[in-house]
Amino acid sequence: MRLDRLLLRAAAFLLLALSAGASEKLRVVTTLPDLADIVRQVGGARVDVNALVKGTENQHAVVAKPSMLIALSRADVFVQIGLSLESSWVPGLLENARNPRIAPGKPGFVNGSDGWPALDVPASLSRQGGDLHPHGNPHFNLSPRAGRHLAARILAALVANDPAGRSEYEAAHARYALALDAAEARWAKAAERLRGVAVATYHQEFDYLARECGLVIVGTVELKPGIPPTPAHVIGLVDAMRVRGARLVLTGAWSNTRQVAQVAEQAQGRVVELPHAVTNAQGSDTWIGMMDQIHTKLLEALDSLPRGP
Ligand SMILES: [Zn+2]
Repeated sequence: MRLDRLLLRAAAFLLLALSAGASEKLRVVTTLPDLADIVRQVGGARVDVNALVKGTENQHAVVAKPSMLIALSRADVFVQIGLSLESSWVPGLLENARNPRIAPGKPGFVNGSDGWPALDVPASLSRQGGDLHPHGNPHFNLSPRAGRHLAARILAALVANDPAGRSEYEAAHARYALALDAAEARWAKAAERLRGVAVATYHQEFDYLARECGLVIVGTVELKPGIPPTPAHVIGLVDAMRVRGARLVLTGAWSNTRQVAQVAEQAQGRVVELPHAVTNAQGSDTWIGMMDQIHTKLLEALDSLPRGP
């Protein structure tokens, strides 16, 4: 009896200690799981991090949920990609979360694309025609250089919001930078074989990847980001693929549709489904793992094509 009571008391004490410990952690909420992974790499045991979006979702069509509002109302730090990727759902959530710590302009609000040179910036900023990339291409999480850029932004944010953790964050960031050195060397090696390979994509989401590994994108299946193709556009794309020798059509899981398969078929090529964000799937559960998987899949797809015209 006495022992039971003692055990109960010990359990209660342990729970209290655990909850006290948990509340001391910096609560970080990110939009993409890619950002959450890098926060985890740099933040280690000092942070408790959650992503609002799943890696397989269409990032342009995220539906706000009450659970997101709860997470944001408790957050110490919020990290987004920016470049209008989250502009259809994040501003409303932030307003309703009424959390001054993560309001835009506050140290708890982190825009991952600050300082990132965007590609495909339109000459005039507008959403005319439904363009989903009004401030340039937001899909830079798929650039092999993104890990280094985001890790630096996240290190600065974690130090600003939790100065007591500076040395821990800096040490973890230094370890992550070494992992990035090794990973970037692997991707540069893969790029030697990918350079000059012509491809088409469904959505304009692999432009940063293509720039780094030397793939040549001859066109997109979509007419414009977010605008489905017309029959004339598909005919033009298939012609361009034939002329330029492009036989791979890159797509994410969210856009791997019958239409993509038809384009690949008509161009006598094949569809390559690549991860477009970090997922729970084996091998792509970290940002570095995802980039490894992308390069491996591209090389495998290249090897699977019949030689010659
Ligand atoms: Zn997009």
